[in-house]
Amino acid sequence: MAAKKIPTQEELQEDLAEFLRQKYGDHVQLGVQVQGHAERETEVEPPESEDNEELKRRILEFDMTPKEVKAYLDRFVIGQEDSKRALAIAICDHYNHIRECEHDPELREADYSKQNVLMVGPTGVGKTYLIRTLAKLVGVPFVKADATKFSETGYVGGNVEDLVRDLVTQADGDLELAQYGIVYLDEVDKVATPPNIIGRDVSGRGVQMNLLKLMEETDVDLRSPFDPTSQMQAAMEFQKKGKVEKPTINTRYILFIVSGAFTNLVDLVKKRAHKTTLGFGGNVERDDDAEYLAQAISEDFVKFGFEPEFVGRLPVHVFCHQLSVGHLFEILQHSEGSIIRQYERAFRAYGVEVIFEEEGLQAIAELAHEEKTGARGLMTVCERLFRDFKYELPATDVTMFVVNRELADSPADVLERLLADPGFRQRSVGRYILSRYAAKFLEETEIELEFAEDAIDALCDKAVGSGDELFGVALTMFHDYEHGLSLVRRNTGKASFVITREVVENPDGVLSDWIRESYTDQEPTA
Ligand code: ADP
Repeated sequence: MAAKKIPTQEELQEDLAEFLRQKYGDHVQLGVQVQGHAERETEVEPPESEDNEELKRRILEFDMTPKEVKAYLDRFVIGQEDSKRALAIAICDHYNHIRECEHDPELREADYSKQNVLMVGPTGVGKTYLIRTLAKLVGVPFVKADATKFSETGYVGGNVEDLVRDLVTQADGDLELAQYGIVYLDEVDKVATPPNIIGRDVSGRGVQMNLLKLMEETDVDLRSPFDPTSQMQAAMEFQKKGKVEKPTINTRYILFIVSGAFTNLVDLVKKRAHKTTLGFGGNVERDDDAEYLAQAISEDFVKFGFEPEFVGRLPVHVFCHQLSVGHLFEILQHSEGSIIRQYERAFRAYGVEVIFEEEGLQAIAELAHEEKTGARGLMTVCERLFRDFKYELPATDVTMFVVNRELADSPADVLERLLADPGFRQRSVGRYILSRYAAKFLEETEIELEFAEDAIDALCDKAVGSGDELFGVALTMFHDYEHGLSLVRRNTGKASFVITREVVENPDGVLSDWIRESYTDQEPTA
């Protein structure tokens, strides 16, 4: 095969940009970056930077509806529908309550059960992401820690109050802003202390009780009793003024979210569920653990090893599910926080355009699913797939490459060929552009076009030869095909055609033959 001239990056970019404009209008840009979610109901954007006064004003004016909050979450978090709904309601209730209390201080004294949340779900399925996204939306400071840290013997002289102090740090020392913050404590299942364990670990219970105090409302000393610097400050203050002021922060408005995988909780739920259903003579047949888990009630959490008062302060129960391959694919393709954007930016910084084909994303999703770490698997897989590309491609003449299934299956081979074979580079990009053209053709005519390898080569040659864009070349070349193939389909019922080199070399002639044959009741030859 004759060596082909490689189209410049600009030429290829123009091809793609033109196609995307035609197919999607201005919503999609090169790199298949979907700008915004198709079904987005609201367009709420948390401002990027605000001063604290502005943030506080915004928090106290927060008046979104649960539906609006859910729609915002939908842009980032894929799946977890029930969790998004429950959290949207909890967040709206919580900040509505704060607003009302600020307008009517008497309400502060009234009975109110704060919407603290207990989240259950495996790792990497979006628990933290949900809460972080909510905190960003409302504009409140957010801190996260693992509960195990506070029960370890190695963690000397710290306790869960540190989390509240961390909120103040997050809020740049602004106490008022910090008091509206969200504290997120993960791995809380590790501080459960099942009653039937002999010689049980009391530190877990201690963490629960300390946390309970915070959730119930208390004043937290901003100077940690265990922090030497704070204590030194206090001592100096005492020397100077003869007394020490005790700056504190009240936890009344702080929202607490605790979460964990609760691996064995499902057994407790099943046990209870069977008991009750048997008692009523029912015969519930549910083998799905996730479904059982979602039926967990406070009683189950107490059996799991939580103090009843502790569970009592966590009225909102949220269950997050394992992510399927389909979810992982959706995350890559549609989440505004998709890791794909990160890779596009990283490669662009080296002057390399990366195009993610749908089948490539699908292959990455499948590999990630095998990792069994939820969406974290996506990061592991991408890191593994692209590390050598990032190392090798900058400063070569490869300015564009396509991520397809072949690349996901054998990245080393593809990288080697990309570096060594200009024709390979050109064909993979060409194949992508033509597949998009075929998709457009299918959408408009319901007729499938399949480009054979030799046709792709021939079309790439033509595009380079005529200096035209490949997509444009296809549009011109197959201009009459929409109408012509529709005729053939009407006559023969055939709705799928293979475009070979022969077709590319003589498009009008081949189409005429096909049409003629369709009238003589013969199967078209292609
Ligand atoms: P965990 O459930 O362990 O708290 P994370 O929320 O920290 O998991 O998830 C890790 C990362 O994976 C997130 O930062 C996000 O980028 C991605 N992710 C996880 N779940 C989802 C999801 N359901 N939708 C979109 N992205 C997700």
